[in-house]
Amino acid sequence: MEKSINIFRDIMFRMNIYIEKGTHVDLGNYNIVIDPTKKHNDADLTLFSHGHSDHYAISMLKTRNLKILSEETLQILNNRIKKASNKIRNYKIIEENQTLEFGDDKEIKITAFNAGHCVGSLQFLIQLNGRKIVYTGDFCLENRMGYRRGKIIEGTDLIIDSTYFDKKYQFPPRNETYTEIFKWIKSRLVDKNQSNLIIFGRRLGTCQELTSLLNFCSLKDQYNIKIYTHPLVYFVNNIHSDYYENLGDYEYLKNPIANRTEFGTGTSKSEKSIYIAPFFLSFKKQIEKKFPEHNLENFGVITGWTLNKRFYIKGFPLTSHGDYNQIMYYKSKSRAKEVYFF
Ligand SMILES: [Zn+2]
Repeated sequence: MEKSINIFRDIMFRMNIYIEKGTHVDLGNYNIVIDPTKKHNDADLTLFSHGHSDHYAISMLKTRNLKILSEETLQILNNRIKKASNKIRNYKIIEENQTLEFGDDKEIKITAFNAGHCVGSLQFLIQLNGRKIVYTGDFCLENRMGYRRGKIIEGTDLIIDSTYFDKKYQFPPRNETYTEIFKWIKSRLVDKNQSNLIIFGRRLGTCQELTSLLNFCSLKDQYNIKIYTHPLVYFVNNIHSDYYENLGDYEYLKNPIANRTEFGTGTSKSEKSIYIAPFFLSFKKQIEKKFPEHNLENFGVITGWTLNKRFYIKGFPLTSHGDYNQIMYYKSKSRAKEVYFF
């Protein structure tokens, strides 16, 4: 009975959910597009879940259509747009647990929830005529350094992140990985008496977890370790500390070689330090260019991909996404009848 009512409603309202360069919730006379990765001219409303580049097209940020996003995501996305006249216009900020209403009779209700993925990341619940459509965006259900875990939202339809939807992606308990990171830092800075390490991660996501982890671990005070951040990490860290959770102390360092010739070589005796840099600098050619006198044993990278892929520098499997088990858990708890993976 319930199903036939839903079909009737779908025909009445011609609701259509599909994924094509973004997620489309087509309500017939009102078209919602979420995280568009190309320009969709038919969008009445565009939702942006977070600021990672695989979740938006710059061309879509420049449109006059109404956009919904968090204040943190607005700042992150605007920073990607160089020209002042192209900055995001016609937007509404939505906060966690806030509901906004749309449509002629305000019949479409959109509520935002914390996704726990990166600063400003949101999940969306779209409600209309008894349908509850949940879009998770990228999410993480685990409490961790610098982050509150994402919440499971119940709905009739679930559109869920499938980045690690494969049995081979089951991550070790976070505390074990944290311990591995501490052990490696101690072995390099203390046992091998090196003075500086460089660790790469996602500038929006794992770099903030790492900043918090390093600041609030006992190693930092015990061995007087200073934390430096690449400008792109520094920018996001400031937003994270201002709006979400204090990450502790970190300094801006644009060019470690120009400013501090010993960076990457581990030879200075002046101080012990760790430089946190974006993932795209972790490729071998980048290291050779940026750190000509490098000692690869002083470089590390944090990303979920190190779980099943060998990196040429020390890797730690930390991710801001839910792994296979989290995706399965979310799916079972959401009670959704229809599930879509993006
Ligand atoms: Zn993401």
